[in-house]
Amino acid sequence: MDGRYADVHFTIRRNGDLLDGTPTFLQGRHADDLDPCSIGVSLAGRHHEAPTPEQVDTLIELCVRLHGEFGIMPNDLRAHDEFWPAADCVGPMVRIARFRRLFAEHLPRPPEMAA
Ligand SMILES: [Zn+2]
Repeated sequence: MDGRYADVHFTIRRNGDLLDGTPTFLQGRHADDLDPCSIGVSLAGRHHEAPTPEQVDTLIELCVRLHGEFGIMPNDLRAHDEFWPAADCVGPMVRIARFRRLFAEHLPRPPEMAA
């Protein structure tokens, strides 16, 4: 091993439990050339299964948290095969556009500008 942890930074179980993997201050190994500048999140499940409502809730909470920590924005969410077609991942039931929309809807609103 080259000292890097294997794989992703977070895994979300079907029941919505969030599992920590590679610490976010370390590079994971999940996105090839994008590894140095990305955080990997894996949704547990079979290829043709849709994410559970609990997984979606946890994912959006995690996105809002990472927005606070790293400034990620909805358009930063990428499916594995958007940049690594050989990955054949995410499955047909995963709609990244839906996750971006939900993330945008849950972004903290900036405080009203003082009149
Ligand atoms: Zn993948």
